[in-house]
Amino acid sequence: MDYDAMDEIDLIPSIIKTVEKILNGEKKTKAIKQWSQKWGLLNSDLTQPLEEIWLELYKIYKLWELYKGLANGDISLLKANIQLSDEIELDQDDVLIIESEDTYLKKAIIFKGEEFSVVEHHNFMKDDNNPESTVALFHLAETLEKELQNCTIFSHRMSISAGKDINDIKFTPALKVSTLKEAIYMQFYILLSENNQKICPVCNKPFSPNRIDQRYCIPKGPCYHTAKSRRYRKPKPPKILA
Ligand SMILES: [Zn+2]
Repeated sequence: MDYDAMDEIDLIPSIIKTVEKILNGEKKTKAIKQWSQKWGLLNSDLTQPLEEIWLELYKIYKLWELYKGLANGDISLLKANIQLSDEIELDQDDVLIIESEDTYLKKAIIFKGEEFSVVEHHNFMKDDNNPESTVALFHLAETLEKELQNCTIFSHRMSISAGKDINDIKFTPALKVSTLKEAIYMQFYILLSENNQKICPVCNKPFSPNRIDQRYCIPKGPCYHTAKSRRYRKPKPPKILA
């Protein structure tokens, strides 16, 4: 790779834009080719089937929807991606799991990729007013952990800079990942652990809000105006994925 993917803040927003384009009818081949020409392939191989790239990008898109819902406190976005069911099922040994006093069992169904995953037997507190947020957070943490399990932290270009005073010494650790896919998930992980950013609903760039009610990356900026004009247009019916 001739660029440092970890330094590119546009990486995730570019994926979201590409998936949105495809969902709005642009040819998969064209959009994914364009994206890959700029960013490269997701794994370290020299070739990768288009359909495989699509599924990976779509998975990241759906995960981003959960993250965006959490970061922006957008419960309706979370509800659009998570379905909670009251059904209590038997576990593998046919043992019925009984509700305890302060928790109850719910099954969360999270839509991801072209299939959905079922998060079973999550214990939610009875007074959890926002079970979707809890489910989203657990699902994000579990998925990121799984995707990053082979990642190691190298002391790559680690820097130590000394000031006049002994207390001025700054230690800057650095991360090194081996594939583009790992870079994407690592950026995701860093965002999640920083936990102080909101996501612009139009351009999908993370930003630190100056005011608690700031919704777009730049107050009254281009994204604010785009969102305002979008509101006057009729929403398109959702596309069924082939
Ligand atoms: Zn924006």
